[in-house]
Amino acid sequence: MPCPAALADTRFHPFWLDRPDMPEALPPLSGVRRADLVVVGGGFTGLWAAIQARETDPDCHVILIEACRIASGASGRPGGIVSTSVMHGLGNAARIFPADISRLETLGQDNIAGFSATLARHAIEADLEWTGEMTVAVSPEGLPLLRHEYDLHRRYGHQVSLLDGPQTRAQIHSPLFQGALWSHRDSGTVHPARLAWGLLRAARELGVEIYETTPMTALEERGSQLEIRLPQGLIRAPKVLLATNAFAAGHPRIRRRVAMLRDRIVTTEPLSAAQKDALGWAGRQGIYDTRTQLNYMRLTPDDRLLFGGRLGYYHNSPRDPQPDRTATPYVPLAAAFFATFPQLEGIRFSHAWSGPIALTTRMAVHFQSYFGGKALYAGGYSGFGITASRFGARVGLARLRGQDLPETRMDFAATEPRWIPPEPLRTLGAALTMRALDGADSKGGWRRPWLKLCGRMGFPLS
Ligand SMILES: Cc1cc2nc3c(=O)[nH]c(=O)nc-3n(C[C@H](O)[C@H](O)[C@H](O)COP(=O)(O)OP(=O)(O)OC[C@H]3O[C@@H](n4cnc5c(N)ncnc54)[C@H](O)[C@@H]3O)c2cc1C
Repeated sequence: MPCPAALADTRFHPFWLDRPDMPEALPPLSGVRRADLVVVGGGFTGLWAAIQARETDPDCHVILIEACRIASGASGRPGGIVSTSVMHGLGNAARIFPADISRLETLGQDNIAGFSATLARHAIEADLEWTGEMTVAVSPEGLPLLRHEYDLHRRYGHQVSLLDGPQTRAQIHSPLFQGALWSHRDSGTVHPARLAWGLLRAARELGVEIYETTPMTALEERGSQLEIRLPQGLIRAPKVLLATNAFAAGHPRIRRRVAMLRDRIVTTEPLSAAQKDALGWAGRQGIYDTRTQLNYMRLTPDDRLLFGGRLGYYHNSPRDPQPDRTATPYVPLAAAFFATFPQLEGIRFSHAWSGPIALTTRMAVHFQSYFGGKALYAGGYSGFGITASRFGARVGLARLRGQDLPETRMDFAATEPRWIPPEPLRTLGAALTMRALDGADSKGGWRRPWLKLCGRMGFPLS
């Protein structure tokens, strides 16, 4: 596929992090320190955990360490579509924990209320727009899925509408859109970096000590304490929350159930008035489509069109894969963009980037406990974690503190997702799956049976 002119002047860096108001870097930690709780990882999970630890116990001495900069992992790189679900959507909750859907729904609603209340309490400005979210069918085969999801959402009390083709295209002018499920409440879009930086400020104001460029190099048990080793020192603490999501740092066994995929995004330059007219989208909803290689899209606060959803996998999960800082991996994403919005022909992409997705067979947060319960990993949101990370942090903290809550006894908190084959099988399986996802809709052949097999292994890709 030739590289389109749209990618000629693109900056290969997350649009969200490309801002002059990015906070000053915090110094690294050196020397020997003690704390009641150490949080490893400065993304949403780590920041929410640190805030909730101090809010529920103001005497708890919390240190948060981040290997690079706050929000340099997934949290500064998402599409920024926010949802109520804490289990990667109602359909996924029905797949993994059918007996618990009602309780998970209530927990999701409580979580959104807590999310909004925290932002209000700490005056966090994050360009939140409660515009709702839409799942859009891009082919007639997607319509039964919308009907199924509509019935499911209605059964659990969601305020949803089912739109036909003309109604959908009246909202957003794409010739591909054949129908939509529009969920009106408790969902929309956010500026993820502004959210993370707001949480950073709130955590520091609550007394959390935060250190950047401070990677944990090893975690070891010493009697009743854990030792967190750092390049220039160490911390001793009785409890450690591993908020390292797709990086899976903290224990070699975490990676057995968590695989790091890369997901890619492009954003356009700001739309002109004529381009906005040609697009419609006055409702500014966050949108997912029903393609097998799913795409998601939204408008940014300064009216760019963000378009994401092109998975990749790199052997041994490098932090910042070099190919993703070149145009080539974004060419198919650009092609999907122009197929969706042909009226924007000629527009250029200002930014393109990829970010780490923590994939598990459940596609939702889970917990792994190590060193006799002194360390707990909380992660695995599989690309759906902006609000769910607050929930993951809350339940993770409760488990780490040994609190017996109704939710810590539920299956999602007490059991783990399935094992994923190790390298080199993982690379091989991922390569086949990427090819299958790529051509499943257009070419068919062996691709659909392979995706069905992935489904039987626990990954709902078909
Ligand atoms: C491209 C993309 C699009 C997405 N779109 C959406 C969306 O629209 N809506 C949605 O809800 N979710 C979305 N997500 C998912 C969401 O961004 C994540 O679920 C969420 O940010 C996870 O937060 P986290 O804190 O668990 O992980 P991260 O933000 O990845 O944080 C983990 C942190 O741990 C640090 N770390 C790793 N190892 C160490 C170590 N040894 N020592 C110290 N620190 C360490 C990392 O540097 C990193 O900052 C998307 C994700 C991606 C990548």
